[in-house]
Amino acid sequence: MSRLLDRFLRYVRVGTTANEKSGTYPSSPGQRVLGAMLLNELSEMGILDALQDENGIVWGTLPATVAHQAPTVAFVAHVDTSPETTGEGVKPIVHEGYDGEDIVLPGDPTKVLRPAEDPDLAKLVGQTIITTDGTTLLGGDDKAGVAVVMEAAQRMLEQPELPRGPVRLCFTCDEEIGHGVDHVDIQTLGARVAYTLDGSGVGEIDIETFSADLATVTITGTNIHPAIAKGRMVNAVRIAGQFLARLPCNEQAPEVTDGRDGFLHPYTIEGGVGKTTIRILLRDFDTPKLAERAELLRQTAREVVKDYPTATIEVKITEQYRNMADGLRKEPRAAAFAEEAMRRVGLTPKLAIVRGGTDGSRLTEKGLPTPNLSTGEHNIHSPLEWTCLEEMETAVRVVLELAGVWSGERS
Ligand SMILES: [Zn+2]
Repeated sequence: MSRLLDRFLRYVRVGTTANEKSGTYPSSPGQRVLGAMLLNELSEMGILDALQDENGIVWGTLPATVAHQAPTVAFVAHVDTSPETTGEGVKPIVHEGYDGEDIVLPGDPTKVLRPAEDPDLAKLVGQTIITTDGTTLLGGDDKAGVAVVMEAAQRMLEQPELPRGPVRLCFTCDEEIGHGVDHVDIQTLGARVAYTLDGSGVGEIDIETFSADLATVTITGTNIHPAIAKGRMVNAVRIAGQFLARLPCNEQAPEVTDGRDGFLHPYTIEGGVGKTTIRILLRDFDTPKLAERAELLRQTAREVVKDYPTATIEVKITEQYRNMADGLRKEPRAAAFAEEAMRRVGLTPKLAIVRGGTDGSRLTEKGLPTPNLSTGEHNIHSPLEWTCLEEMETAVRVVLELAGVWSGERS
């Protein structure tokens, strides 16, 4: 386990914060630096085809240990961290044999992890907890996944007696800003099934994500100096207010929904009298409902514009990602075998839904079924982020068992 811990500590010390405003891919240089470190380690392990491609993505293959043609399984994790909290200069702190007390983070003593408010932490007394010093995020999302996949690969090479078909490894960039699989070609990945190691806690398999569209509502009015505006100005800012006021915010907003309920979420508004633009996230587990929500926006636009005959309100819909459940239904073994692998390491697997998207949502949509597996992440994107070494170790064992379960199949 100490090798797994060393790996994790090594990876979190490399700053890889994704940068939405960058014009490059990957969006920050640290992602290439960490990728180069992984490439080096994979080569040292003896993975002959390991490479870092021109986009910074790291690939590698472990040959099969079974004689028959077994399906290829891919394991995927992302090297970038969320821009919501800085990931530069991470100083991880290891709490061995966690005593169950509050953990005060020394770099910012106002940041305190309290087991009384964090039931996941309360359950882990005696285990090894890794926190930050309170001034950065930890980057367990997703360096816990990176460390788990790297450690599993090394153990597979050290234990050729374990049955497996061909295993593909893929370390992606810029997942946190929605570009994790822009440059991942599923033909290059060449797998029958893939798993992202990017989930919280232990023993969960994410088999559903939201389906997601973006609505861009552009309101065009008429701007003129207020002194001579009577009867001539048409104020797009006021129209935007009217438009937003008519949306069903009480039953279809993220702040009042949970579980399987979707929402409409206006999250940016910008512009002025002549033109105002509102961006609205449309989210639902039930993909056809996105079209209903888009129609509601168009209907609202038609109603509002009646009062402003010379204004226009345009509603443009852009597809973002789709619920992976739609694609996973075509390959029921993807989730079933993950459940079996978890049972083999003594867990009671839990199928879960994600009120968001994962790299797997888009890989599944492209035709590669890709559930997401627990890998010991907690309080992600926050200075209060932490991971548990024992949960990461369990994730390594799940990966080994999962390769074993798939090796019993024929491709
Ligand atoms: Zn992640």
